Parts: sequence; structure tokens; C-alpha cells
Amino acid sequence: MKAAVCTQIGKIEIRDVPKPVPGPGEVLVRVRSVGVCGSDVDGYRGHHPMIRPPIVLGHECSGVIAEVGPGVDAARVGRAVSVEPFFTCDKCPFCLEGTYNFCSDLKIIGHQVPGAFAEYVLIPAKFAHSMPEGVSFEEAAILEPCSGALHAVRRCNIQSGDFVVIIGCGTMGSFAIQHCRNLSAEVLVIEPVEFKRRAARDLGAAHAVDPRRDAPESVVRKLTGGKMADVVIEAVGERPTLTQTVGLVKNGGRIMLIGWTGNDTDPFDLTNTTFKELTVLGTLGFCRDFPISMKLLAQGKVNVKRIITHRFDLEHVRDAVELLESGRDNVWKAVVNIV
Ligand SMILES: [Zn+2]
Ligand SMILES: [Zn+2]
Repeated sequence: MKAAVCTQIGKIEIRDVPKPVPGPGEVLVRVRSVGVCGSDVDGYRGHHPMIRPPIVLGHECSGVIAEVGPGVDAARVGRAVSVEPFFTCDKCPFCLEGTYNFCSDLKIIGHQVPGAFAEYVLIPAKFAHSMPEGVSFEEAAILEPCSGALHAVRRCNIQSGDFVVIIGCGTMGSFAIQHCRNLSAEVLVIEPVEFKRRAARDLGAAHAVDPRRDAPESVVRKLTGGKMADVVIEAVGERPTLTQTVGLVKNGGRIMLIGWTGNDTDPFDLTNTTFKELTVLGTLGFCRDFPISMKLLAQGKVNVKRIITHRFDLEHVRDAVELLESGRDNVWKAVVNIV
């Protein structure tokens, strides 16, 4: 089969590689659509803690089941599926408890095992989620970040009417907006890029602030009558925005850190975290979120198409990754379609 192999840092080549054979409990998916993610850029540049070339990148994907391994119902061949990109051990304490995103032997496609920038990808049958009628392959591919954002938002315990600040309207931020709106929260987005602020409003944000023009803290203070936000969701992963979270949240409020820098010396205002009795939350991938976000997508409660701005074929994966890295041409989400 053909695969776009990241052979070394900064290099992606189209290669002929052996087509994988599904083992027990696995399926082989003929890939149709793959989302290009910031972590693909990090992997390509050698900046991702879990990704070491040579590797086939790509973990946001959909396709059609082409073959099944032993123990998998053969009737599943030909089904269109969205891929939850995990391999789990199914026997560690976390797997047994059902929190499989904490599996002590967790492997992610495109990270430690071959990813989806290829004609075929292997995945456990239980993580190949059947696509309902009317859902496209592109939407089913981008369901991955949609599910990741859903996992994070579910952990925030948002109540109807809560004032939620979302820092950054990238892919994760754009889905966090929609999930918060579905919970009837009042959403304020902080985003320097104009077309993303406009889109944020279309997707359900009540307010969109340009941090280069207005000081977010005073805007939030004014809108909340001095109370500040019930929940702040950081979806950028840079030092200044991570630091900014504590000042935006109310006493007793919650901070969700979707973003991270990979740097263990990140500054965080611990004094005010304790003085304000804050709850700081982390998030790791997804755990039983795919079926829910699939339902939201099928019911029209999340708009996945709105963020897709660029399309490439398998031969041009490198261009897609480099475009995302450059931020040129108003790129938001690029997808690679494989026919
Ligand atoms: Zn991703
Ligand atoms: Zn496990």
C-alpha cells in the first residue's frame, strides 16, 4: 500500500509499505479522510513527546472496513467508520475500571503505532465507530478533535447559564464553543484572528474578543458584573494564555487546560489558585465520547464542516502539514482525502 512516511524529522515521503494484517479483535480500515492536526506538525518537527520518526503520522480519520481479524464479525466489512485512534491493553487497572484513556500501555495511531496518512490503517474493532446515514467521511474524520473537546467540556461540569471563557478558537476551541453552547452556557472567546472570531460567533459564542485590542480580563469583569467566569477553557497551549487563566476565572471557579506546552517549568499562578479556591482540570483524549459526538453530529448539533478550509491528497501530506505549520492562507483545518 501507499503511505506518507515521516522518515525523519522534517521529511515526509510517499513509500510503498506492506499492507497491515488485522490481528485478533482488529479491523483494517481503508482510509478515506484524515484531519491534519497540530500534533502532526509537532511530530514532523520532532517537538512531540510521544512521536519519534520514522512513523506514519495522522490520527483523525475515517474510512471503510476492508478486512476483519479473528473474532470480529465479518458482516462489518464494507461499513463506513470513524476511528477512535487508540490501542489499549484491556487488562491494566485503568482498562478494567473503564477509564481506558489512562491505559498503562496506551498507544495512539500516528504516535507510537502507524497512523492514517496511508491507504490502510489498523485499529481495534471496538474503536471503529459506525457512521450513521448522512455523515460524510470528512466529518467523521474530524470527529476525533470534536470528541476530545467533548471529553474536556464534560469534565468541566458546566451548568446552564454558566459564563464560560474559551481561550483560542483553533480546532479544539471551535468544538468547545459548540459543546458549551449546547449546554446553554454563555460563551466568550478570546481569539486574535478575525475570521476565527467571526466563525466563533456563528458557532454559538455570544462574545468574541480580540486580545490585541481589548484586555480580556476587563471585558469579562464588565460582562459578569465583577464576578468573572465560572469556567475558563484554555485551548492554545502557550505560556501567556496558560498564565492568563487564573485572572479570568471567578473565586471557586474551574479551569480546564486542553492546551499544554510540553515544558515542565510553565508558570502558573499557584498563589491565586489557592486563594481563589480554584479547581484545575486536565484532559486526556477521550473515553466513551465518540458515540456521543457522533450522535451530536448526526443530529446537526455540532458543525464540523465549518472549520475545514483546505483539502489535499495523499501525495501532498507534506504540503498539508507545512501549510498548517505556517498558518498561511487563513488555514484552519486541512484534510487529506484518499480515494
Ligand atoms: Zn489531533
Ligand atoms: Zn490498559
